[in-house]
Amino acid sequence: MPDSASKLALRISRRLAQHAFKEILPLRADVGVVSFTFDDVPASACVAGAQALERHGARGTFYVAGGLTDALEEGKPCHSREQLRTLLAAGHELGCHSYSHIRCDTLTAAELEQELDRNAAFLAELGVDPLTLNFAYPFGAYAYNAKRICSKRFRSSRITGGGTHEDYADLNALKTHRLYDVHVDAENYDTLLQRTVRRKGWLIVNTHDVEDPPSRYGFTPERLEQAVAAALAAGCKVLPVNAAIDYLLQYAAPADA
Ligand SMILES: [Zn+2]
Repeated sequence: MPDSASKLALRISRRLAQHAFKEILPLRADVGVVSFTFDDVPASACVAGAQALERHGARGTFYVAGGLTDALEEGKPCHSREQLRTLLAAGHELGCHSYSHIRCDTLTAAELEQELDRNAAFLAELGVDPLTLNFAYPFGAYAYNAKRICSKRFRSSRITGGGTHEDYADLNALKTHRLYDVHVDAENYDTLLQRTVRRKGWLIVNTHDVEDPPSRYGFTPERLEQAVAAALAAGCKVLPVNAAIDYLLQYAAPADA
């Protein structure tokens, strides 16, 4: 448990990180974009989560911590290697979520690099190209050093909370709305979706298990499918994170004179 001096140091470090190592992606596409992401990757996310997207012709991003493979989390089974291979074969994207599902804000640089190397090796075994990797901070816990390291290693890094992106996104601190059974964010999905449509922004959502009943960090298959259908009905593109960045980059550069 950090003492109050280390807590203060962490707060300052995170505040500094908000303004450092930014990679700004201007949002100038003709329509809004919504990305559905799954953290830790419980087995139910591989099945019901993937299906909720696939039924609508869409795909998602699954942030994998290799150390949770074949393990239990919150009493629920996590993914197997076979399930991750099935996701890739169906066109979903796998991202990195550290290997041990550990807070990255309190690790030394060497410890963090080791965690990330280990997970990159795990994902490479499944055929994931390290150059295409996107990252999600476990528990959303980032700080100055972690952002410095992750900004060099990953195409994007996602924190937790913060709503939707309007006008621009910082690829090294992407925000997310939590689609959890227990409501945790100030705004709700429908409001954020409407704003994403209006501002042609980029809304990233995340959840964990996808089952009925879900854990407090998960969502039911029905509600998830409704959220996907609502994004498409509102005219948004539903794209996993790499595909979303590719799509948004096409519009980001100023047109040639
Ligand atoms: Zn996590």
